Amino acid sequence: MKILSVNAGSSSLKFQMYEMPEEKVLISGVFERIGIEGSFYTVKLNGEKLKKEVDLPTHKDAFTILIKELMDNNIVESLDDIKGVGHRIVQGGSYFDKTVVVDEDVIAKIDELSALEPLHNPAAIVGIRAAQEVIPGATQTVVFDTAFHQTMNEETYLYALPYEWAKDYKIRRYGAHGTSHKYVSARMNEILGRSNTKLITCHIGNGASISAVKDGRCVNTSMGLTPNAGLIMGSRCGDIDATIVPYMMEALKISPKEMDTILNKQSGLLGISGVSSDSRDVEEGIAKGNDRCILAQKMYVRRIIDYIAKYYVELEGCDAIVFTAGVGENSISTRREVLDGLKVLGVKVDEEANNVRGVETRITAEDSNIPAYIIPTDEELMIARDTYNLSI
Ligand code: AMP
Repeated sequence: MKILSVNAGSSSLKFQMYEMPEEKVLISGVFERIGIEGSFYTVKLNGEKLKKEVDLPTHKDAFTILIKELMDNNIVESLDDIKGVGHRIVQGGSYFDKTVVVDEDVIAKIDELSALEPLHNPAAIVGIRAAQEVIPGATQTVVFDTAFHQTMNEETYLYALPYEWAKDYKIRRYGAHGTSHKYVSARMNEILGRSNTKLITCHIGNGASISAVKDGRCVNTSMGLTPNAGLIMGSRCGDIDATIVPYMMEALKISPKEMDTILNKQSGLLGISGVSSDSRDVEEGIAKGNDRCILAQKMYVRRIIDYIAKYYVELEGCDAIVFTAGVGENSISTRREVLDGLKVLGVKVDEEANNVRGVETRITAEDSNIPAYIIPTDEELMIARDTYNLSI
């Protein structure tokens, strides 16, 4: 059965088509600059990558071209071959604790939650509408980044703000990257051979979050109402003293929108290093002795250690620490520094085992109190799995 996994942004559409249940990727790619001059798309097929420049006024045009590519490359014979389309949604609020089939009520709720996620949620609705028009026979599903975190209890997800804000303004912790945390925690349980586990999953990419997962259920996560909470990220500040916000808005005479841009786009590794939001550039700066890159990395690693330690206490132990996403899978030095910072818990990195990028492997010594693993994440596959299960 052919299942399409899609992620629509305001001007982009990423896709991956799977043969399910074999979980084989048939084709993947991305449409970029939709509705903007200079639009194009790239397709990855049989190990080859092709780029084509085309007019893409709307997301519907992108889906129409996608279908043509699928047919031209004999991936599908007709539209009827596509049984399910799974859409990634960033914010599902308190409404959704799992993947669901799209109906008008579901779309209305995603739309209502656009206030909390003004960039991605409206774009996803555009993507759903376009897919419904172009592939009307397929089951359309929505997979939420927040769903996995809906198992957190009230004392964990509430902020110590006026109690009514949670009800009247939906102000609470929702978390993000839930599809990734769910994927790597399920895979970790497979490796451990049991499901009654206490795991700390570290999704460290350009955006970064850590979750505490007990018996396969999320009990805490570092992102909050929005993804700008918890860890220091590429260009996001993560946790800060909230009062800095009004103080600096007055000092700099800037608007809430300008402040939000600084907190999300000019802070984090970029803000401290002054060099880049990309940890590869920061590592390069460190190698050249750049003091601000050294400082940025120390702060970045410290925060990861703090969260792992906090969740270790909350879980009353830990059966495995998992690293995933761009930095987690690829930055040898970040993983080593984090694990070194946990030696008080008896964690011992295996330097040789850790000297790898992007492969599933254990990276701690035999006698480490807690094992740590790299597990490459696969959010698209999770979307395809959920969609397949709802399409059969
Ligand atoms: P993601 O958001 O998961 O795609 O992660 C992207 C981030 O991963 C980049 O911004 C880099 O900071 C980081 N990254 C990717 N490759 C490497 C690498 N080889 N070494 C260190 N960091 C990397």
